[in-house]
Amino acid sequence: MNPTITAYQYSYITQQVNQLVSSYLAVNDKHMRQVIRDTTIENIRQLLPEDEPLAKDFLTGLIPDRLSRKTAAELLPMLEPLVFPFPTLSTKQLGKLFRKVKKLKQPEWSGLNLHTLTYLGWNDGGSQKKYLVAPFHDRLIGLQGDLAPETVKGVCAICQTIGNVALFVSTTKRSGLGTYTRNGNYICRDSAQCNRQLTDPQALTDFIEVVQPKR
Ligand SMILES: [Zn+2]
Repeated sequence: MNPTITAYQYSYITQQVNQLVSSYLAVNDKHMRQVIRDTTIENIRQLLPEDEPLAKDFLTGLIPDRLSRKTAAELLPMLEPLVFPFPTLSTKQLGKLFRKVKKLKQPEWSGLNLHTLTYLGWNDGGSQKKYLVAPFHDRLIGLQGDLAPETVKGVCAICQTIGNVALFVSTTKRSGLGTYTRNGNYICRDSAQCNRQLTDPQALTDFIEVVQPKR
């Protein structure tokens, strides 16, 4: 079985299922619930490979009326074999992506679900830095910036969702005379949460265009 779904599509599917479960708590009319369920299943079906038994089983699992949150949470991991995982990077590979960082704090790989990551992001609380590894023009690039210690409610520049964001400031241009240009954006403090909310990669690409160092 080969993966065919991206992590952001998997996040979209997860959101669709969660919205369906929430609607069951709010909608008393059975016919209305059926309409919502059919729409949800159709939205998800379009992203799944046809004739894949796993995908069929997953969709069948969504049919019962008033599906519980617990059952839904158990169904979703069924799809993970169909999702392209984020690559595991060695310390050496990460070092190449962050050549200028002397003591790069490593991400905690064991705590990550690679099937939910469109990009990899982790914080170094000690130096108040955030590191990001993200796909950009068919390769992975490393980005770093200062992460403000304060968390505020706002819209994240990457996942476009309202949540707990912090100001991420990166240096985008250095001139020979010691002057430099800095760029600030509010992004989710918790990158794992950000990835779960990221259903469209365009904003991530736009973000990288803005924050990456310019020559
Ligand atoms: Zn976010």
